[in-house]
Amino acid sequence: MEFLSHPYPIRPRPVDGELFLGFVLRLADMNGRETLADLFCDFKSLRQSRCFFVRSDDFYRVLPYFAKAIDMSCTDLRKYFMRDGLLHEVASNTFYRTKIGKPVFCPHCIAEHGYIKSKWLYMHINHCEVHECKLLHACPACGAEQKWESKLLHRCTNCAKPWADVAIVQVALPAYEQTLAKMSTTQEEAYLEHLYHYVKFSMRPFDATYDKYHKAIEHLQDTSKYFEYAHLLATLEYVRHDYAKHRKRRFIKDLRSESINKLLTNLDAPLHAANDESFSLNFPAVSKEQPSGKIEIPDAATYKILTVNRMRQHAANDNRYHLRWEDSQRLLSMSRNTIVSLIDRGVFKKRTHATSSAKLIAPALDELVELHSRLRTIIKILPTKPSFKTARWSNLGSYLGKKRTIAELLIAGLNREISIYTSSSVEDFMIEELLFDVGELERFKLSA
Ligand SMILES: [Zn+2]
Ligand SMILES: [Zn+2]
Repeated sequence: MEFLSHPYPIRPRPVDGELFLGFVLRLADMNGRETLADLFCDFKSLRQSRCFFVRSDDFYRVLPYFAKAIDMSCTDLRKYFMRDGLLHEVASNTFYRTKIGKPVFCPHCIAEHGYIKSKWLYMHINHCEVHECKLLHACPACGAEQKWESKLLHRCTNCAKPWADVAIVQVALPAYEQTLAKMSTTQEEAYLEHLYHYVKFSMRPFDATYDKYHKAIEHLQDTSKYFEYAHLLATLEYVRHDYAKHRKRRFIKDLRSESINKLLTNLDAPLHAANDESFSLNFPAVSKEQPSGKIEIPDAATYKILTVNRMRQHAANDNRYHLRWEDSQRLLSMSRNTIVSLIDRGVFKKRTHATSSAKLIAPALDELVELHSRLRTIIKILPTKPSFKTARWSNLGSYLGKKRTIAELLIAGLNREISIYTSSSVEDFMIEELLFDVGELERFKLSA
């Protein structure tokens, strides 16, 4: 592979904690290249923003160019940026944390040290702990967002205001950022693993499901309040408890559901599943004193941070109810096949992906709650064992003398073709207590 006949005349070495793209800009700047396009011209290669996303295939594709340009081995050059790759791994289920969006920066650090820190691009970092100021997303003089050009290492890429002339505006750092600044790398990883788990609940507190977010960085400039609350969720049992209660109440109200509905209680399973006692011990609540007064759940972040599919599945104001297939299956305790046959029979609405009409979308929470309420009207709960013959759902197949699927039985019940009784004395029931034969439940658990 011959892309450069000689290394560049000036060959800087990366600084610890430097952003890979920032290093590339420094290399360009020192060798008289203003834009990334100029640089990539030298390599006779196409520039893609993914190239700067450490650990991506494209990163490894372009790494040899830069290694050659500074006359260093790929392995040695790569070492400087592995920490970002590691952190990306930690939180990859949630956010493209180290994905390169528009520049976020501390102008004072740039003016003093002349390089871009990689942590400024992390989703959870909103401040510079050295200068105790907010990180900037735009030039304070002209308000323009910055470009990834070599000028950025000295001044505004739009109005050319030198960063050295920008006045420092000090603010108090959020407690979790203060805590992070003092942590070792190993501690930091463990801490972030938890923080990023809980921030999902904090960013969209009243959503039925949590999955990858889309372009969270671009749509949320200051994430402090979400991470502050995520830390409280991660470390304080009563905050989690209050959160779950509040959230359930909101669903009951909005879905006009009955006050007791185990479907809604089970929604909290992912929240409680993540509870980790040793984490709370190792990382006690950020402030020295327990937070006093009422802890407010943050307002939901914009729906624009949701995955594209989720944004398109529902109207903007009700993508809250979207469920992933595994969530629908878990809440209904049904296999995907059973749910699909219920969709075919019209029990649930048939909706398909915006991108492909062949891809079915799982029934949303509002539909599940509605089905649950309808079941209450067709299933009689008998407090004591009645004198007449009763049939539990689980026995219905044999009771009717025919082998039927659960979906068929459910439809028959909804159509009032058969009467169904349960001898359960509990006030409320889960669908799985009524609907499932052991075989299906086992198959579901195996496939989940
Ligand atoms: Zn700074
Ligand atoms: Zn400017």
